[in-house]
Amino acid sequence: MSEVLSDIAIAQANEMTPIELVAEKIGLPQDSLELYGKFKAKVDYTKISAEEKAKVILVTAITPTPAGEGKTTTVVGLGDSLNRIGKKAIIALREPSLGPVFGIKGGAAGGGYAQVVPMEDINLHFTGDFHAIGAANNLLAALIDNHIYQGNSLGIDVGRITWRRVMDMNDRELRNITVGLGGRTNGVPREEGFDITVASEIMAILCLSTSLEDLKQKISRIIIGYNKNDEPVTAGQLHAEGAMTVLLKDAIKPNLVQTLEHNPAFVHGGPFANIAHGCNSVLATKSAMKLADYVVTEAGFGADLGAEKFINIKCRQSGIRPSAVVIVATVRALKMHGGLPMDALRDKNVLAVENGLPNLLKHIENVTQVYGLPAVVAINKFPTDDPEELDLIKRKCKEYGVNVSVSDVWSSGSAGGEELAREVVRLAEEGENNFRFLYPDQLPIKEKIQRIVAQVYGGDGVVFTPSAEKEIDELEKLGFGNLPVCMAKTQYSFSDEPAKIGRPSGFQVTVRKLKVSAGAGFIVVLTGDVMTMPGLPKIPAAEKMDIDQDGKITGLF
Ligand code: ADP
Ligand code: MG
Repeated sequence: MSEVLSDIAIAQANEMTPIELVAEKIGLPQDSLELYGKFKAKVDYTKISAEEKAKVILVTAITPTPAGEGKTTTVVGLGDSLNRIGKKAIIALREPSLGPVFGIKGGAAGGGYAQVVPMEDINLHFTGDFHAIGAANNLLAALIDNHIYQGNSLGIDVGRITWRRVMDMNDRELRNITVGLGGRTNGVPREEGFDITVASEIMAILCLSTSLEDLKQKISRIIIGYNKNDEPVTAGQLHAEGAMTVLLKDAIKPNLVQTLEHNPAFVHGGPFANIAHGCNSVLATKSAMKLADYVVTEAGFGADLGAEKFINIKCRQSGIRPSAVVIVATVRALKMHGGLPMDALRDKNVLAVENGLPNLLKHIENVTQVYGLPAVVAINKFPTDDPEELDLIKRKCKEYGVNVSVSDVWSSGSAGGEELAREVVRLAEEGENNFRFLYPDQLPIKEKIQRIVAQVYGGDGVVFTPSAEKEIDELEKLGFGNLPVCMAKTQYSFSDEPAKIGRPSGFQVTVRKLKVSAGAGFIVVLTGDVMTMPGLPKIPAAEKMDIDQDGKITGLF
């Protein structure tokens, strides 16, 4: 067997084409391109005047397991495969965060022969968007503390400031800190903390904005905390929105890069998929929709979180409507849902696959029956997959009216995804599409949550803690009852308990806390503790990284 190359080795061996040529291929006006070196460009979306005509294909997945699924890899491969069969396709992905790059996950630019490049840049500072978002976030934090120091005319309650500082790094030491020590001239002492940049509301706002003006308005609505009368205090009251938008003037523009096969890719924005909606920017998706016939995009985590938020938050706010959905699964991960441990995944085990299948089938049911969308299952192929295991998956999915396509883009690039691409085209052109949201805007907050738990998670009901009940009352009184909800739940289970893999039933979901992201326009519903500042593992990925005299990087996966 030939040697398996690492993602970075494959990416480095690839000869990229100048980004102007990639732009030319999709008819981007030359004056819309702002070059960041030879292979990256920002795109001035205001200069693209075409209609948003492309069909949008959402790539989502079964419930994640440690065995890995491969959504990003599938997005990149499917985009290349669509181009290969003669369709004009652009992919739209999130930007990776430095935290996971140096922590556990490594890069997030696809894998094998389905990657976006330059992978080192994309995984590192890229075009500086995340730094700009951090700066805008921290400018607001500085303005808040300065306002209090200078006399606090808004009467901000120092104990109820909800705005935190951010940094794009996994650093648990900064989760809870004390600021303003050192006497009167050095600020007002209070408890503070850092989140990772992707958890900043600015990130979610940037990804949902449609123009600089819209961005500014959304920023002005951010609630930074409460005054002594329990009334919200906004960024607008601190006159922060203008300066913060100045800092984001370039970050708002979508980034254009290419796949290993030189097809266009927008990589822009990267909100968390738990406390935020987990999708790339609306502006990148819409720009791609003006330039292509097909836009392939990803939503974070499994379909219970990612697809639900893509539909009920991103589509609701932007008017984007998906034409088909790809649900990614692996035979390995299905075996894990069927109860096998990691070290038993290589051996043929049809029964374990059968036991794990209900997880996939529930996600299919949600996509086709709850949201009314045509779907295909993409099995991301591993060498250990057995034909009998694959046949079983095909048979069971057929009973739900859904085809299964084995995708081999990781090892073969676009040639490995032709069948998937043809099925996606068939679904987008002829599939029955009865797209619908799960709930209307005006449904009360509690009922929105209950509907998600009952219909999407398959749970028996919702338990609201007394403090959650109180917060719901307050949010509705403040006029936020019409916003969509953004569920922050473990990604490892349909339920709120990570250990309940497969398709659990007979469970209740406990809602502990709610928080409004008034700028982004959703209510975050916390079902457990969500880590908004991750830590590094015992052996961080950082320890294996290096760069040589010629600037060649190793160890970035
Ligand atoms: P997701 O987007 O679902 O988190 P990714 O596409 O980023 O998943 O893939 C995660 C990792 O798994 C990547 O490092 C990728 O190289 C690897 N991977 C994906 N598909 C395969 C495959 N078919 N065989 C081997 N490794 C794969
Ligand atoms: Mg991904």
